Formats: sequence, structure tokens, C-alpha cells
Amino acid sequence: MRGIVFDGTKTEFVDGLTLRAPGPRDVIVEIAAAGLCHSDISYMHGLYPVPSPGVCGHEGAGVVVEVGNAVTHVEPGDHVIIATLAACGFCDRCADGHPTGCRQTLANWSQPFTLDGEPIYNFAATSAFAERTVVRDVQCVKIPDDVPLTSAALVGCGVVTGMGAVFNRANVKRGQSAAVFGVGGVGLNVIQALKVQGATTIIAIDTESKKEALAKQFGATHFIDGNRDDVVVAIGELTPWNTELVRGPFNGGGVNWAFDCVANPAVTFNALESLDWEGTVVVIGVSGQTTEFHGLYGRLTQVDRGIIGCRYGTISPHRDIPKIIELYLRGDVLLDELVSQTFPVEQWESAVQGLESGTVARGVLTF
Ligand SMILES: [Zn+2]
Ligand SMILES: [Zn+2]
Repeated sequence: MRGIVFDGTKTEFVDGLTLRAPGPRDVIVEIAAAGLCHSDISYMHGLYPVPSPGVCGHEGAGVVVEVGNAVTHVEPGDHVIIATLAACGFCDRCADGHPTGCRQTLANWSQPFTLDGEPIYNFAATSAFAERTVVRDVQCVKIPDDVPLTSAALVGCGVVTGMGAVFNRANVKRGQSAAVFGVGGVGLNVIQALKVQGATTIIAIDTESKKEALAKQFGATHFIDGNRDDVVVAIGELTPWNTELVRGPFNGGGVNWAFDCVANPAVTFNALESLDWEGTVVVIGVSGQTTEFHGLYGRLTQVDRGIIGCRYGTISPHRDIPKIIELYLRGDVLLDELVSQTFPVEQWESAVQGLESGTVARGVLTF
């Protein structure tokens, strides 16, 4: 079968992959669509400390074709979104509804594929850039058949990462304000989740001025062009300390929440500077493992500000993904509009170029 393999130095479209049979708790999914996320490009650039060669892709949706004999919640023919968390289901974190903290969800790679007789690793316990993949039962979330699989695919990473940060990691309250740094596949989902939560000032920031229309379509109330404006000053003017003063004592004024979808040191610094008293920066973007950021200690103690990280929207897939699909079916969140362009899997390089150049917010590969 066809797929995209990173061999440790280069990435290639191949034909001739084989897949092992499912174990008792495994599910074989025929991938219909798979989103291209920044993490895939990082993997293709060898930036992750994971083994290769491996089949790329971690944001997929498809149809169940075969299940192990202990799998009870899905059956062949079911449409599913694949979550990358191959959580154990039994540890204290899993029992507490926090599978992103399950120790089994990292470094759990295996070699379910072969290519010309050579074992090939999976990536992020998913490997969605193949015609078929094998995942754990807990990773498969059943969805209604009428949800387009090209839209559903994005839920598996970008959508839950952005929306989950708002729903689970932060505690955004009705009427609060938020700044969202980076209007990409994740940032758009932060924006629309903020709208669902009832945030009334949602400020989108990007260095591409053409992202303004998209940000506003998803619920942003304001847009700041990071190339043109001083971002911290502009956020302060939108959320002043009082009617006379833009920034008050201890840098008061600013937003209640700042979502950093970029994780670049300058962006994280600006995010902290943009907070009102008691505000929190939520870092969602993934940066290099040794990249450092800096900020002013005084901002934290004065007054009660904080910086927190968020992995994969801190989601519990079987709780959060059905909720997101329900919101979509009710028209409260947009999924179809997230798909900037679809590409037949053979044209994966065009999707990579589009994402890297910023012309494609989210490209989806189809099989
Ligand atoms: Zn666990
Ligand atoms: Zn991703």
C-alpha cells in the first residue's frame, strides 16, 4: 500500500508498505483523509527524538476495516477520528480524565509496517499518511457518517489542540478577554473555542495581514498585524486599565488570557507583557527542546499572573471529540472552513510547501 515515509534524512512517497495484523485491542483504520500539521514537518526535518524510518502523519480520520477480538466500541464500517493518545486507560491520570498525563502516551513507538522487508516505525502512535494504519482501540472515536472525513481529520490534532486549550487547560469565563498569537490551524480553533466560551474580546495576532478575514470569520473581534503594529501597545489600547490610562500600575490593563500558538521567545515575551493582573499565558506551540524564553519576574508576582503549557488540548478524546462534533453539527464551530485545500496523497510536497509558505493554513491529504 501507499504512504509517506521519513527515513531519517529524507521523506518519500512510497508504494509497497505492508501492515501487521491487529492485536486483541487494536483497530485497523482505512485512512480517508489526513491533515498536514507543523509537527509533521518537524518530524520530516528530524527535529523529534523519535526513531526512523517511520510512516508520517498524526491527524487522521477514516473507516474501521478490522478490529481485534477484545475491541467492543467500534466495528468495521464505523467512521472514526484517530486521537494520537495511546493511553493505557488504567493509570491514575487516565482514571482522572487526564490521559495527556498518562506515561504510556510518550515513547510508545512500534514497528507495525514493513517496506521491502524492512520494519518501519509508526509516528505519534498514529501514522495517518498511509492507506491503512493500526492504532489502539482507545484512540478511535466514532463519529456520525455524515461528517465529512476531510474535516474530521483535522479534529485529531489541530482542532483538539486549540479548542482543548480553551475548554480544558484554561478556565475562560464569559465576558473575559483573550489574545491569540498565531492564526494557523491551532490558533483558529483557539479563537472559535473562545467564542463558544463567551469571551467578548478576542484579539487575533499574526504577521500575515491577510489572516484578518479568516480570524474574524472564526470569531475574532479584533486583528493586530504583528509586522505593522507594536503588539503589546495595540493589545493595551484595546483592553485599557481604565478610561484614562492604557496601562496601570504593575502593567495592569491587557487581556485575561494570552494563547501562544507560536512558541517563539519574542512571542511568549509579548504574551506575558499583554496580560492584565491575574492573567495567564497558555503556551500551545511546540518549540525546539532547548529553546529558552525570558520574561520579567515582576509580571508574575505583580499581580498573580502565570505561564502554563498545554499538550494536545489536555483532552480526554472520548469526552472532548464527541462534544466538538456536536458543536460542529449545531453550527457553533467551523470545521469545513478549516480545510484550506485538499491534495491527493501523492502531492504531499505541495501541501508541505503551502504550509511552510503560509499560503495554506491546513492542507488535507486524501487517499
Ligand atoms: Zn494511563
Ligand atoms: Zn499536530
